[in-house]
Amino acid sequence: KGPGEVSHVSRGERMAHGMPSQGKVTISVDEYSSNPTQAFTHYNINQSRFQPPHVHMVDPISYDSPKPSGHTRFVCVSDTHSRTDGIQMPYGDVLLHTGDFTELGLPSEVKKFNDWLGGLPYEFKVVIAGNHELTFDKDFMAELVKQDYYRFPSVAKLKPEDFDDVQSLLTNCVYLQDSDVTVKGFRIYGTPWTPWFNGWGFNLPRGQSLLDKWNLIPEGIDILMTHGPPLGFRDWVPKELQRVGCVELLNTVQRRVRPKLHAFGGIHEGYGIMTDGYTTFINASTCTVSFQPTNPPIVFDLPNPPSS
Ligand code: 5GP
Ligand code: MN
Ligand code: MN
Repeated sequence: KGPGEVSHVSRGERMAHGMPSQGKVTISVDEYSSNPTQAFTHYNINQSRFQPPHVHMVDPISYDSPKPSGHTRFVCVSDTHSRTDGIQMPYGDVLLHTGDFTELGLPSEVKKFNDWLGGLPYEFKVVIAGNHELTFDKDFMAELVKQDYYRFPSVAKLKPEDFDDVQSLLTNCVYLQDSDVTVKGFRIYGTPWTPWFNGWGFNLPRGQSLLDKWNLIPEGIDILMTHGPPLGFRDWVPKELQRVGCVELLNTVQRRVRPKLHAFGGIHEGYGIMTDGYTTFINASTCTVSFQPTNPPIVFDLPNPPSS
């Protein structure tokens, strides 16, 4: 039975499974939360949750295809990791960058990224942080300077006044961190958090900690920007034969928020586009797993919301 089919299920059970019902949908921690690879297998076998016809790969639009009238063209990039020099940027209206624009979040890197943004012709540029933007995560920095001086020496030796206001270096974009902005009638929400992996910035344990962040995402947004993927959509790590997407993020996207576009990166190997029949999922990682910035930006057209 597909995730949208709710017949023969009582309202109570629907609530327990976070499925649509009369009231506000509540997502709870999934029983497979801590093991996404197992979660994928389970939901695929028992619910065909990641199977065609609804779920399938999507071909990218070519850069020279004309934008349909009454549409806005979004240009998605991610994980540029201070390697923006050779990237060929296509025509579009709004740039979305889903984090890891630096290697370590050093102010010098942020300035260089901001200069690059300044030279791009898009009407709006919207950016979130990723786990590499260490200086943007204030709690991470507080811990780093206390305990772990040797882990990221060039970051740990920064003086507080060098990074306290690092966000303000991003003058050429809208920076989102658990917040939203409306551009050209589209409501866009951005959040940097990812499942804990080697103790980088904006890392949280899988389960309730991350779900608490996803629960901040309002219903009625058009576009969701996260750094990492949801379970099952461009989240495969070949070198480990594992799915690493967040199960609660998937449930939040499919059962509560239902944006038209979910843009992310994070897992460089997962570059590409998929759909579940309603939401388009774009992993726009520019860098490959060996940090070569060779994956082209992905363009995506959305019909303009009716103006009010
Ligand atoms: P980054 O260091 O830029 O955040 O991620 C680079 C690469 O590290 C990814 O392409 C992926 O190979 C690996 N990686 C990042 N996050 C995770 C994770 O949560 N789990 C696993 N297994 N690998 C990850
Ligand atoms: Mn990255
Ligand atoms: Mn990352």
